[in-house]
Amino acid sequence: MSRARVNPLPRIVSGMRPTGPLHLGHWEGVLKNWIELQKQHECYFFAADWHALTTHYQDPRELDTNTFELVTEWLAVGVDPEQATLFVQSWVPEHAELHLLLSMLTPLGWLERVPTYKEQQQELRDRELDTYGFLGYPVLMSADVLVYRARGVPVGQDQVAHLEVTREIARRFNFLYGRGGSFDEHLASGRARLGPKETRRLTEWAKQYRESGDQELWSRIERTLSQDPRLTSEEQVVLLAEARGSGRAILPEPTPLLTRSSRLPGTDGRKMSKSYDNAIALRDRRDVVTRKIQTMATDPARVRRTDPGEPSRCPVWKYHEAFSTADTRQWVEAGCRSAGIGCLDCKNRLLGHMLTELAPIWDRFDALQAHPDTVREVLASGSERARLEARATLEEVRDALGLAHPS
Ligand code: SF4
Repeated sequence: MSRARVNPLPRIVSGMRPTGPLHLGHWEGVLKNWIELQKQHECYFFAADWHALTTHYQDPRELDTNTFELVTEWLAVGVDPEQATLFVQSWVPEHAELHLLLSMLTPLGWLERVPTYKEQQQELRDRELDTYGFLGYPVLMSADVLVYRARGVPVGQDQVAHLEVTREIARRFNFLYGRGGSFDEHLASGRARLGPKETRRLTEWAKQYRESGDQELWSRIERTLSQDPRLTSEEQVVLLAEARGSGRAILPEPTPLLTRSSRLPGTDGRKMSKSYDNAIALRDRRDVVTRKIQTMATDPARVRRTDPGEPSRCPVWKYHEAFSTADTRQWVEAGCRSAGIGCLDCKNRLLGHMLTELAPIWDRFDALQAHPDTVREVLASGSERARLEARATLEEVRDALGLAHPS
């Protein structure tokens, strides 16, 4: 059997739902981050087709096509399968097994108080979302991350609360099952090696840490234990778990990796969204992008060509910030405030920059669509790689629960 790769870089996991073509907001706010992250992290990026089913279960016909097109878009913008593992969630069934096991220990109240649960039910009133799968969405999301024992998850500020549920679930799992097996034995031998004086000091620090949550104190505990050459690695793990007041970290708690969210508004100035019909799709071509930009909302104070405007009030300006050069931005700021340029001049200059950046992406997208086997191969090998990691985690998880398994 092939073995999981050993990669010294910190591991992160992130996914996108294949529910239709991506728009420029996804590119700006998510994919550009991924392209940076893949250089410095061991990245697992997945098409979350099961997640798409939680809201689109009534019409799954497009799911397969959407999944392939989504990954084709990733590759076209520069997500690199040589640097990151790209896979499909449903091709790694261990996500489902861990989801099931975690659902056994997740209190209902944790799920009901996830901020988006009620919001999305309201927002998507035309879909019947009173389902078990929709309520359990955060548990599946937790399984997606924990099954790879990821160190970090890239999130925007507004998603930190979601990740907190994952952290709580991991903590509960470790507390319930992380003290079995040889935990007490390693604890006793670790304490014996430290001796009574150091054990007392460690116990006092741990008590203070659990009362105050002081992170500096926690770093000191971690440093002291991890640098002590007398301790075995198992003893270090168990002593740390004891100091934290939990069990062995079978499923480590991932930390949020805060990323910048998209600056790009929709063509009407509101948040860019397919449902507002104000999005510019990554796949929209030259003529469509041109029409959408040329008819885009501007600073409402600029009614006539002779009225001075203010870029910070104008949605078009956000596009200049994302696509234009410093020279162009200076030209816009001066010309807009003095009414020296018209909005159409301003938009046409922006289009020059945007089309230059988008054209190579469209070319790569077309080339990949002409060779669908390339995308299929990327996903097949990525999913196989992901499965190796996921299987290893599930072995430990089953072991901790005392579940027999034939493999
Ligand atoms: S000149 Fe440009 S920045 Fe100023 S209002 Fe018109 S489109 Fe917006």
